[in-house]
Amino acid sequence: MSCIFCKIINGEIPSNKVYEDDKVLAFNDINPVAPFHVLVIPKKHYESILDINDNDMEIIAHIHKVINKLVKENGYDKTGFRIINNCGNDGCQEVKHIHYHVLAGKKLDWYDA
Ligand code: C5P
Repeated sequence: MSCIFCKIINGEIPSNKVYEDDKVLAFNDINPVAPFHVLVIPKKHYESILDINDNDMEIIAHIHKVINKLVKENGYDKTGFRIINNCGNDGCQEVKHIHYHVLAGKKLDWYDA
């Protein structure tokens, strides 16, 4: 398997995990653009939202539930945060395993991340 995020999920590549359950993993981005920069990914490989069929779509709600928990745990529910999901070439998606960036800890410029 060549997907770098699948390798992180199965432990072949190390990551700084901040949350894990049977469906998702959240870890610190190795190249953070904000004081808090976490990636939340499903353990099942999907390239992007375009690959998730109606029956599997609940994983997106689950990811948002995890984001809700993480931002509250870190106090960013009070200061604000940003969720980003880059898709495809023009979206500047580098890793072809769907992931949600969660940025917080500073006043974000519109062009950040
Ligand atoms: O949305 P995009 O695909 O551009 O973002 C991929 C993100 O994955 C980057 O922010 C990059 O720093 C991060 N990354 C990581 N750990 C890796 C490889 C990439 O946190 N081993």
